[in-house]
Amino acid sequence: MIYKGIAGADGIGIGQVLIIKEASLDYSHVQFSGKEQEKKRLQDAIATFCQKTEALREKVEKDVGEKQAEILSGQIMMIQDPFMASQMQDFIDNGQCAEAALDAVCNMYIEMFSSVEDDLTNQRATDIRDLRTRLMKILLGQEDIDLRTVEPGTVLVAADFTPSMTAGIQKDNIAGIVTQTGSKTSHSAILARALEIPAVMSVENACTNLKNGETVIVDGGRGEVITDAEPGVLEAYRAKQINEQHEKQALRSLLGKRTETADGKVLAVYSNIGKPADAGAVLDNDGEGVGLFRTEFLFMDRDTCPTEDEQFAAYKQVAEKMKGKEVLIRTLDVGGDKEIAYLHMDKEENPFLGHRAIRYCLDTPDIFETQLRALLRASAYGKIKIMLPLVTTVTEVRRAKEILERLKAKLKEENIPFNENIPVGVMIETPSAAVIADILAKESDFFSIGTNDLTQYTMAVDRGNSKVAPLYSPLNPSVLRLIRNTITAANNAGIPVGMCGEAASDPLMIPLLIVFGLTEFSVTPSAVLKTRKTISLWSVPEAQKLTEDVMQAPNAESVKAILEAQQKK
Ligand code: PEP
Ligand code: MG
Repeated sequence: MIYKGIAGADGIGIGQVLIIKEASLDYSHVQFSGKEQEKKRLQDAIATFCQKTEALREKVEKDVGEKQAEILSGQIMMIQDPFMASQMQDFIDNGQCAEAALDAVCNMYIEMFSSVEDDLTNQRATDIRDLRTRLMKILLGQEDIDLRTVEPGTVLVAADFTPSMTAGIQKDNIAGIVTQTGSKTSHSAILARALEIPAVMSVENACTNLKNGETVIVDGGRGEVITDAEPGVLEAYRAKQINEQHEKQALRSLLGKRTETADGKVLAVYSNIGKPADAGAVLDNDGEGVGLFRTEFLFMDRDTCPTEDEQFAAYKQVAEKMKGKEVLIRTLDVGGDKEIAYLHMDKEENPFLGHRAIRYCLDTPDIFETQLRALLRASAYGKIKIMLPLVTTVTEVRRAKEILERLKAKLKEENIPFNENIPVGVMIETPSAAVIADILAKESDFFSIGTNDLTQYTMAVDRGNSKVAPLYSPLNPSVLRLIRNTITAANNAGIPVGMCGEAASDPLMIPLLIVFGLTEFSVTPSAVLKTRKTISLWSVPEAQKLTEDVMQAPNAESVKAILEAQQKK
């Protein structure tokens, strides 16, 4: 059987299915089994909770740090508090099951702690929420799956993967990733590409159609998942897998080579990263800089915002590791599909159109200023450039720059070194920004085109919604025109222009981008050499001819057909 989905990350993976279900904490089916029995269930669950949490605490202390580990010790103390225990017993005495007693008492504390306007007290509400979820899972007999310990050759299948679920993934054990939702630009797909794990997104009902333990083939390039494969088919895919490894090996001959077109136009391939450790992969793949550091990942998988010092250390580490190569760091891009629970952002009807990214940062000065100060301080240690996400107006850029100037003055007073001329650039990822690119160019030191969002907003298509996925393509004439307009505006203003959206590594798109005048392609580390190779296959006049045909095509389908017919491999 072949299940069709969306190509998420190239490569062939063959392995055994492991379905990861987000646990439902619904306990409405649980019957009250008598006071003594319910109290015993609660006590046993608390004992298991303390054991598990202690084990987790030790691990976290070793792997993450003392501060994060303290949060877990705090949870053990809380649940062992006799007053909290007696409150839960009261509910049980009144005929409620252990789950209902836990829920009611935790809710009381959560409400109390979240109504106080104080970060530390709010934090306690977050801790109790976490405690409630984990204790409830124990009561309901739901096991947590630790992705760090899965067997080699596992194909992970889930509705979707949140960044925190994937934090501990051991890439060598994961043969493939399959999700029920998402697209090529959803965060699961971006992560899969960064880890070089074949991935297929938006496979309808994957969690019910695929069976735990069955062997499947994940064809990440074609967007297919194959079950019950005949031995011959399996053999053919194994051969394809080996072939891919050889191709990858062959690309290594481009290490240390210049990025240039067949007729000698010199360009550059940078890389996108999510955490400081990724800089190693950029260098291993000969990336010529970091074209996008998605700093929101520094804010995920923890319970409070990283401090100025923590951020400073992270940015400095990347800047130093890149040894004088450019590092474009994007300020916090939160909201939309990027949720950070402890920020308690308001629920919105249309989160992608809401209070997110630069809008949220400008209205939340403590978070924004902490990040900008850390960036300024780190700028003394390498070639850092600051990049603003989701800009729609010049006013946003001006306001951000005003804050930056104020922070610079303060750092000067404090005699803290920083780069006074740190470049500030704009991500062009909304139609508004692309249309006014000529105006924005006057106030920006550089542009970086974020085609993932630019496509979403131009086509009015949620980038993670599989039902409308066929419309989601940067090859739509509207998106191509906005890209061309942006690059022309940057070239006219004499500022550098790069692309850090996924389209930058699309072999079909590359000849068009060369002709439009793009100079920096920023791609996932594993795609650097392939992008360099594709660029080397085209001469400008050849690409020019192709581009003229493409720009007359009426829709994405014809654009794709023209590009595929003339693709160079
Ligand atoms: C983009 O929108 O193209 C982009 C690079 O940003 P992100 O994928 O993180 O939204
Ligand atoms: Mg974006």
